[in-house]
Amino acid sequence: MTSGANFGIHSGYSHPTLREWQQPNTSIGPSNLMYPIFITPDVDGEVEIASMPGVKRWGINKLVTHLKPVVDNGLKSVLLFGVPDETVKDEVGSAADDPERSPVIPAIRVLRKAFPDLVIACDVCLCGFTSHGHCGILTSTGHIDNDKSTKRLAEVALSYATAGCHIVAPSDMMDGRILAIKTSLRQAGFGNKVSVLSYAAKFASCFYGPFRDAAASAPAFGDRKAYQLPPGSSGLAIRAVDRDVSEGADFLMVKPAMIYLDIIKTAKDRHPQLPMFAYQVSGEYATIINAAKAGLYDLDVALSEVLVALRRAGTDVIITYFAPRILAKLNQDKAKYIYTSSIISSLDQLHIFLEE
Ligand SMILES: [Zn+2]
Repeated sequence: MTSGANFGIHSGYSHPTLREWQQPNTSIGPSNLMYPIFITPDVDGEVEIASMPGVKRWGINKLVTHLKPVVDNGLKSVLLFGVPDETVKDEVGSAADDPERSPVIPAIRVLRKAFPDLVIACDVCLCGFTSHGHCGILTSTGHIDNDKSTKRLAEVALSYATAGCHIVAPSDMMDGRILAIKTSLRQAGFGNKVSVLSYAAKFASCFYGPFRDAAASAPAFGDRKAYQLPPGSSGLAIRAVDRDVSEGADFLMVKPAMIYLDIIKTAKDRHPQLPMFAYQVSGEYATIINAAKAGLYDLDVALSEVLVALRRAGTDVIITYFAPRILAKLNQDKAKYIYTSSIISSLDQLHIFLEE
């Protein structure tokens, strides 16, 4: 007697449409993308970043021109990073929420006016603004002072909320900062208007190297291993995610993305009620681009495969420097979504090589 299993599974994906059916919840549309942007204090600045081909720091006078075609192609959200002058940095990052010295605050105002429908998220951290380059305030012995740090981070978050952002995104990884920020937002009347995207599981990673070039935020001494997670620590990642959910985070993030798919899946399975973000960081971006430049694969095919993998793992929103490229492709293909079909048809052509 023949059992059902003997019929095999190939019949279930023998046509492109059938292959789409086999990959539920892996489509990519504009709502699945957030575009990170570096803001420089030089208002007319347009500064290339050597380690991130195609990514620049933008001054506020150039920002609208840069974003207009991307918004026209469907961009729905941005994540802003301020890159201040070295001269304004001090021990407590006082420039982070000073409208005269932080390029983020004027950028929020400009973007709100130019693109009323665009969701504006702001990275909240001190490392770009502190003289020591750490993400919090230090004690006299050079350790993180957690209470002072969370208080300061809440002040910065509140100033970005006051300037008009929709989301504050604390990336510092301090204990208790979500609660401090939520409390401060509520007390100031932003409790129902401004949400908190927690960098909940942020791992200490060499893949941040190009970002530190972009944001000039490398620590002056030591490293961030006392607050960012060790790469193998799935247990700590779960505790960090649970901690931030219990403190009131509206959205969760795992960072980096590609090599932490298991963490994304675990976090999403554990908290399916919260939208899950994954940050495809600078080193991932540079790796994908440089491998394509070296002729190892077609950039768009590789990118599609990565995006699908992130969606398959449970990511709802991918923070990616490729957002303009992906949206341009969606527009060019007149597609509401990049379904896996685009990568299926490309991969079909590669089939013979894959079989070898
Ligand atoms: Zn930081």
